[in-house]
Formats: sequence, structure tokens, C-alpha cells
Amino acid sequence: PPADLDCDVLVLGGGPGGYSAAFRSADLGRRTIIVERHATLGGVCLNVGCIPSKALLHVTAAMQEAQTLAHAGIAFAAPTIDLDRLRAHKAAVVGKLTDGLAGMAKGRKVEVVRGVGRFIDAHALEVALHGGGRRVIRFAQAIIAAGSQAARLPFLPDDPRIVDSTGALALPQIPGRMLVIGGGIIGLEMATVYSALGARITVVELGGELMPGADRDLVKVWEKKNGKRFERILLNTGVSAANAQASGIEVTFSSGEKGEKVEKAEFDLVLVAVGRTPNGKLIGAESAGVNVDARGFIAVDAALRTNIPHIFAIGDVVGQPMLAHKAVHEAHVAAAVAAGGKDAFDPLQIPGVAYTDPEIAWTGKTETQCRAEGIAYGKAVFPWAASGRAIANGRDEGFTKLLFDEKTHRLIGGGIVGTHAGDIIGEICLAIEMGADASDIGRTIHPHPTLGESIGLAAEVFEGVCTDLP
Ligand code: FAD
Repeated sequence: PPADLDCDVLVLGGGPGGYSAAFRSADLGRRTIIVERHATLGGVCLNVGCIPSKALLHVTAAMQEAQTLAHAGIAFAAPTIDLDRLRAHKAAVVGKLTDGLAGMAKGRKVEVVRGVGRFIDAHALEVALHGGGRRVIRFAQAIIAAGSQAARLPFLPDDPRIVDSTGALALPQIPGRMLVIGGGIIGLEMATVYSALGARITVVELGGELMPGADRDLVKVWEKKNGKRFERILLNTGVSAANAQASGIEVTFSSGEKGEKVEKAEFDLVLVAVGRTPNGKLIGAESAGVNVDARGFIAVDAALRTNIPHIFAIGDVVGQPMLAHKAVHEAHVAAAVAAGGKDAFDPLQIPGVAYTDPEIAWTGKTETQCRAEGIAYGKAVFPWAASGRAIANGRDEGFTKLLFDEKTHRLIGGGIVGTHAGDIIGEICLAIEMGADASDIGRTIHPHPTLGESIGLAAEVFEGVCTDLP
């Protein structure tokens, strides 16, 4: 058998958390190894998450925008869709980024061992190598970045027409009727893609609201725009059974207090987007003495240490929000602390974005949170119906909302609904982290006419400054 490998820092998992931790560790002079079971680095985000979904959302948004230009005197024929080329485009986008990561690992002399890793004790991991065989890696410290996978509904039959987000991103077909189970960000982003490609979409959500986590006023704007675009949106409704028939998947919905209201409908494709399960139980953590909770999450302190002080954990496997940017920032802290530095993961805000149409972005405190936590806050809203740029874009249905501490007028949260909301929320993130108050933001000269200036204008609204710059 091949000789044991030896390193300072072993990183388990090559997603955004894992590669960021490994690259930072190597930059800090540590001998670093990443163990990744898949052929490429990048994890869920690059391979089957953030990036391929945005490649598809960009294409479908452009398609739809082109169709809305008729009123401006520019008409296009109905689009023709070549699914093979669309898939190839998406694969090329992903490939460019994963190739880049491979180059960055090489440049830093980070060794990537391909295979499935399991801890065998607190200083060793055994890898079932991709090409067969096993190899033991001994480490001084480890960073667990094993990520998460799509949660399953165990009663659904095994059928190629029932897919998770990975299956949906593979674009197996353009279904006539598609069911999206789960009204969260991932479900609604995929619903946006498939509806633009021509599928008639039903969304079913067990809870009473879509996009939980975001304030209702933001989501309402999305609902108004998409109410007609989607065939049906069923809230407070569960899927209780599904049967694979030759003609489609027959799904049973149940609603009502005791699930007594039952309805059946048939779909050509069913996407299950009911959340994600952490991979903590699949890595032999117990052999290293690392505690994993019943759901598969690994608890960490602010320095990202597990209960075993030389083993850290980051990213989706440590908890919500399961987002790539959270994983990356945790990674940098874990790598710094492992190298002997002093650091902590203690952000004032972590943004969330639904890249739907329109986009919904929020960060810091939401109004719902402020009310629940009894925080005295003031609010300012700038409606995009008063934004010159939004009107010029033909998309003035959005708004920008800022939440301030009532006493200090410091920014504590914000939300934006509208096109490109995800691209402009970054300023709110920075303002919260820098302790900016309403006057700082309102007096900052923003470029005109932009969607981003709605942030400065909302702050002016809060300050009671009358503005005549739409
Ligand atoms: P992962 O990316 O899950 O990586 C973990 C890696 O570890 C995987 O490559 C896995 O193969 C490997 N691994 C696990 N166990 C082992 C083992 N035992 N041996 C070897 N290798 C192992 N987030 C955003 O911020 N923005 C978005 O727009 C966004 N869009 C998304 C869209 C979809 C459809 C999905 C599913 C997710 C999306 N996310 C998005 C979430 C984002 O992908 C995750 O938060 C992020 O990938 C988490 O990074 P991670 O490093 O913790 O784990």
C-alpha cells in the first residue's frame, strides 16, 4: 500500500469552505492537503449550486428581458431553445472556475487527494482513493468542510423524473408541467429557470410563506410579479405521496389542519427542494472524538474549533445560513487560528440573496427579527417607482429598505427587492460592518442614475431630507 501522507493541516472537503481554508493555510506557510471525493474542487457551490444556477438564471433573464422590449419598439421572434448547447454553456462556465481552482491549488503546492475520507483517530484520516486503494493521511490539525447534501423525502419513488437541485441543474428535459416541492431560495430559483424555458410551474410549500427568512414586504413584490407566471403556488400544503405512472408522476397534496384535504395532480418533472442535510455523520467524526449532533451538524466556537481543539469545522456542516460566502469567511478564520493567530468569526451581518426575478436580498436584522427581539428600530423605504434608473430599465416594481437603530441611527439591517438586488446589497453589508449611520449613508455621493443610489436615497428619506433626484 502507498506510504502514509503527512501534513500540518488536513482539509476534508474541497468546496468554498475547504478550498478557502486550504489556500489560506498554505499562504500561512503550512503543509496542506485537501481530500475531496469529486473530480474537481469547488464543492456544491461551483459544481452543482451557486454557479451553474446563476449561469442558467442569467440566460433565462436575458431571454425574458428581450421579450419585454416590444413596447419600446424592439421585437424579437420567440426564442428557440437548444438544451444541449445550454448545458454545454453551463458546463463551460463551471469548468472555467474549477480549472482555476486546480491551478490555484497547484500554485500553492496544496496537495489534492481524490477519494472519500474518514477519520480513524484524532490525528489520522483514511482515504478510499478514487482510483482504488486506501491511503492514510496523518495531520497535526484538521479543518472539516464536508458540506451538505439535498434533503430527501423518503416516501418518494426512485424515478428519473423526480430530481433534487443537482438533477434539475442537469436540465434533463423541459417539462410541460413541473412541480417544485419547497418554496425556499433554491426551489424558487430553479422554478424561475424552468418557467422561462416554458414549463408550467406549481410550487408547493408546507409552511405558510415563501422564502422564509426574508421580510414579507420584500417577498410580496416577488409574488405580485410571479403570481401569474406560475400556474399555482400552494402554501400550507404538503406532498404526502407520489406514484410513478407512464404518463407522469402523480402527486398527492394534503392540506387542512389534519391533512384531510387531499388533491392529486400529475407532473412531468418533480423537483425536491426541501432543504439541505449536513454531511457530519458521514466522515467518521466519532473516531476523532468530534461531536456531531443528531441532524449531522458539528458545533464550533467563535474560532471555529470543534470540541477537539486541534480540529476545526466550517461551512454548511456547522449550520445556518448554508451559504458559500459564510463558508469562505469561516475558512479564513479557521486557517488563521490553526496557524496560531488570534481571530474570530463574529459578523454583524450575513447577506442572503434569492436570484429570482425580481431578486430579493437582505442582510443584518430583518424587521421580523427586530420585532421578535424587541429591538427599537426606525425604517426608511425608497420605492423604485421613484428611481429614474429603475423606470428607464422598465423594472420599477422594487424597493430599497433600510433599518436603523432608533436611538443611534446606526444601520442595523436592510432589504432590497428588484432587479440586481443581490449586486447592490453589498453596500448595505459594508455600512453595517462599518457602523455607518443614516447621515453617513445619505451624505455619501452615489452615482446617478443607478439602482444602488436607492440606498443613499432611502437614508435621506430616513433623515427627512427631501430629495429631488429620482
Ligand atoms: P460544499 O460546497 O458542500 O463542499 C463540501 C465538499 O466536501 C464536497 O465537494 C464534497 O464532495 C466533499 N466531501 C464531503 N464529505 C467528504 C468525504 N468524506 N471525503 C471527501 N470529500 C468529501 N450559496 C450562496 O452563497 N449563493 C448562492 O447563490 C447559492 N446557490 C445555491 C444553489 C444551489 C442549487 C445549491 C444546492 C446551493 C447553493 N448555495 C448558494 C449554497 C452553497 O452551495 C453552499 O453553502 C456551499 O457550497 C457550502 O460550502 P462548503 O464548503 O461548506 O460545502
